[in-house]
Amino acid sequence: MPHTLTISQLTDKLAQGELSSREATQSCLDRIAAVDGQLNAFISHDPEDALAQADAADAALASGKSKPLLGVPIAMKDVIAVNGHPLNCASKILGDFNSPYDATVTEKLREAGAVIFGRVNMDEFAMGSSTENSAFGPARNPWNPDCIPGGSSGGSAVAVAADECIASLASDTGGSIRQPAALCGCVGLKPTYGRVSRYGLVAFASSLDQVGPLTKDVRDAATMLGVIAGEDKRDSTNVPEPVPDYIAALTGDVKGLKIGLPKEYQVEGLDPEVKAATEAAVAKLEKQGAEVKEISLPHTQYAIATYYIIATAEASTNLARFEGVRYGARVDGASPEEMNRATRGAGFGEEVKRRIILGTYVLSSGYYDAYYLRAQKVRTLIRQDFLNAFKEVDLIASPTTPTPAFKIGEKANDPLQMYLSDIFTISCNVAGLCGISIPCGFSVSGLPLGLQLLGKPFGEPDLLRAAHAYEQATEWHTKRPKIG
Ligand code: GLN
Repeated sequence: MPHTLTISQLTDKLAQGELSSREATQSCLDRIAAVDGQLNAFISHDPEDALAQADAADAALASGKSKPLLGVPIAMKDVIAVNGHPLNCASKILGDFNSPYDATVTEKLREAGAVIFGRVNMDEFAMGSSTENSAFGPARNPWNPDCIPGGSSGGSAVAVAADECIASLASDTGGSIRQPAALCGCVGLKPTYGRVSRYGLVAFASSLDQVGPLTKDVRDAATMLGVIAGEDKRDSTNVPEPVPDYIAALTGDVKGLKIGLPKEYQVEGLDPEVKAATEAAVAKLEKQGAEVKEISLPHTQYAIATYYIIATAEASTNLARFEGVRYGARVDGASPEEMNRATRGAGFGEEVKRRIILGTYVLSSGYYDAYYLRAQKVRTLIRQDFLNAFKEVDLIASPTTPTPAFKIGEKANDPLQMYLSDIFTISCNVAGLCGISIPCGFSVSGLPLGLQLLGKPFGEPDLLRAAHAYEQATEWHTKRPKIG
């Protein structure tokens, strides 16, 4: 069953001629046909285009070419541009818009030989934590279809966890890769801000957004990061740091690695099963030779407010470009202003409107100093907390989410509860760090739980080393949902 393979397993089989990319791609397409009616991970996909790419990969393989992702089917979150393919950001406002160019990460995947297929589901414009804010209907958790898969990259996580693709690419502004990875039982990596180009990623909050992979194991995350990382002059926030060999970091050894546990993370509402699983995971790393110590991140209590002020402020400016003239759908009106209003009124969903209103408010004259400017100052304090902590430790461990996946509809009408569930993931973006979520157990009701590790800026090698060592010592990542 080729669709169940990891990247490394598939590329081995392709290189040995045991399997073709066409067979692997067809296997993913068959899997989508079998299970996606239930899961709604894919907004759209183009089987013919996918198979044509697979045939090209098979021809390259036959001529002896070797590339890191040659012939591997990868699904793309509907916020990353793929030339000639639909780009909707799971919103109605983009209508039948198609990308006129490839994002840098898309280009890099192509250069690495990937079969890029499918637009996967998400919260509209990546705003949300459950994928319920999609104009294309919610995606469902493959471990229990009554539950949310997390968000905003729910489709990317479901597609990987339910073996509808080999790996996927997504974006993370405040947890959108790590949180759905945790809730669906796969690996999600958010690279350091500046590590991966954002060119061709539709902007939500430009000072927080990063592109990263969702994969079936840590080795695959290292492979994907090695492909997508690197300098890009088309993104002015991209940092020209050399790209290390991330696979070489997977030594299986964590001896001497110092891991910090923030004392402020014993938050109210932390589910006892999540707490126990995270503690057991940290104990395992300690047994493997890591040194564990308590640390302090004193400004933790301000993280959610800071994030939701900065993210909404940036979103309100970024989303001004969707006005019915340049992109996608238009609703006519008697004047240009009427047309803008009618288009935005009909095109954006409720959560996106809420964010635009909040963001416009915190940037407006009279409130700017009290909210936006203050949030920027607190952001510096939060970053400082982490940089101080990283003088004492190499990594910071925590749960990825305070609870396992909740039921669809449970928090849909309570935005504040939804925002509060982002407590462990948002600081990583606010402080510009890197972070990973890896499977670390299951709840009694059979839902996956995630361990989050945070690393210092450009500390991905240590992050991957520890995640890989833990994975080697456990079997959580090998478990698959019984679906289809
Ligand atoms: N859940 C957070 C939000 O709603 C993060 C989303 C994301 O990372 N794109 O803003």
